[in-house]
Amino acid sequence: MATVSSISSATQIRVTNPATGGVLAELPAASDAEVQAAILRTRAAQPAWHGVGAKARARILRKFLELLNRQRSEVAALITSEAGKPEVEALLTELIPALDSAQFCAETAEKFLRPERIRHSNPIMKTKKGYLLREPHGVIGIISPWNYPFSIPTTEVLAALAMGNAVVLKPSELTPLCALRLQVMLRQAGVPDGVFEVVVGDGSAGAALIASAQPVDKLVFTGSVGTGKLVAQAAAAKLIPVVLELGGKDPMIVLDDADVEVAASAAVWGAFVNAGQTCLSVERCYVHKSILQQFLAACTEKTGKLRVGDGSRTDVEVGPMIHERQLAIVERHVRDAESRGAKILVGGQRLTEIGPNFYAPTVITNVDHSMALMREETFGPVLPVMAFESEDEAVRLANDSDFGLAASIWTRNRERGEALARRIQAGTVMVNDCLTGFAISEAPHGGIKSSGIGRTHGRIGLEEMVRVKYVDSDLLPRMSKIWWYGYSQAFAEQMQAFVDFLFAGRWDKRLTGGIKSAAALRRKKI
Ligand code: NAD
Repeated sequence: MATVSSISSATQIRVTNPATGGVLAELPAASDAEVQAAILRTRAAQPAWHGVGAKARARILRKFLELLNRQRSEVAALITSEAGKPEVEALLTELIPALDSAQFCAETAEKFLRPERIRHSNPIMKTKKGYLLREPHGVIGIISPWNYPFSIPTTEVLAALAMGNAVVLKPSELTPLCALRLQVMLRQAGVPDGVFEVVVGDGSAGAALIASAQPVDKLVFTGSVGTGKLVAQAAAAKLIPVVLELGGKDPMIVLDDADVEVAASAAVWGAFVNAGQTCLSVERCYVHKSILQQFLAACTEKTGKLRVGDGSRTDVEVGPMIHERQLAIVERHVRDAESRGAKILVGGQRLTEIGPNFYAPTVITNVDHSMALMREETFGPVLPVMAFESEDEAVRLANDSDFGLAASIWTRNRERGEALARRIQAGTVMVNDCLTGFAISEAPHGGIKSSGIGRTHGRIGLEEMVRVKYVDSDLLPRMSKIWWYGYSQAFAEQMQAFVDFLFAGRWDKRLTGGIKSAAALRRKKI
């Protein structure tokens, strides 16, 4: 197993079920040479894939949508076996975004890729027709994490393919089976051989996407901040553009007029869904002091009712964490908070009697920003709750973070929530909901500050999958241009007048400028 941000070059990848520790598969890890070969195969296949056109690609995506919809229960079961979350949660948080993204890409791609007219406002450029072409980068490398092993790579792969790129996907070494399943389904849907390759391996296989002699043309990376920085450095050395979807420490602000029951249910789901291992998890909760006690009581009661266990059981709400390394981070944060005066209301310990990777959903209060729990990404089932007295204080606390992925605001007054949303430093702010922004295919997903660079999803995500080419075509091919050689004193004066014509504040000066500069059209050019 690779450690965060490290390159360990395993030759064999062992995939285990986090609920039981049972081995699901042993797969050979791709060597550097095999990663290079995969890039070359996709590079060879890409021009024909681009050449079939957006409509034909959309047909294949629709076929994929049908296939995935038919096989959704099997895929959900695979996700659960590999990543631990309850099957119904896999259906809701992985299958729905993937299906919706297939629909979005199939419906949007053709129109999105049509040439876009650029109109010139400068009168001297009116003799030209300008337009934008959106062309594929070529080969997109995608590196994905284990926490959403199906929806994250699928939404990114579909967007890249729809735009006419070929893709090499390097899934997390902890959850490669979902990516391999995706590959099988895309082939069945009609994606030609070589257009979409999966390389199984740890960090070294990911690094090889950039380090190879003939690297990918663009890299979309989702993972931790530490690895993201390494990837960005390696890519910068080769000027390979990157999208970085990194960690989060998302705040939830519960205003004094919020519905306490609803907000508490949201906090509990937002903090514990996928055992808290979601980049968009509620990782910090700020509650107005007037409703703090009521809110804490509601959260404690709701958390106490959650059923923790193997996600393949239909009555389970919270599954295991992915592995020991992640549990150790949670324990460190909870212990550090306790040692600084925090109070655990419920949870706060491992559940070793259930299996190797279980941690009890935990509500913890009396927290402050001196604690790792409120500053670092915990990525586990822990809900820390802190009081605030004023909106200004809530905004200050929410923004007092290195991260800026998403945030949520809870209030009965939507206008108040939206006004506050403008003051929050984050890529997404949801009013009266949390996390679901990821499942809205039209909405861009991504962060600011340490949470990353660029966006996936929506039209803005599609923009990341294309290079923009500006084409400009002159409508008067027999006319030489006013600004070409043949400079002289008279010409300089005419051009001064021309600038007046374009930009002078007074209309009479513009008119005189226009008349004076028109003479330049008749001058002799070289
Ligand atoms: P990670 O950084 O350990 O690994 C992510 C991927 O990078 C894996 O496939 C890994 O093999 C690969 N990798 C490791 N070292 C590499 C290197 N040197 N070069 C290239 N690739 C390398 O992250 P993780 O533990 O798999 O995922 C959890 C993290 O991902 C959390 O921080 C979480 O917040 C973040 N995440 C972010 C988003 C988002 O959309 N912003 C979504 C999900 C997860």
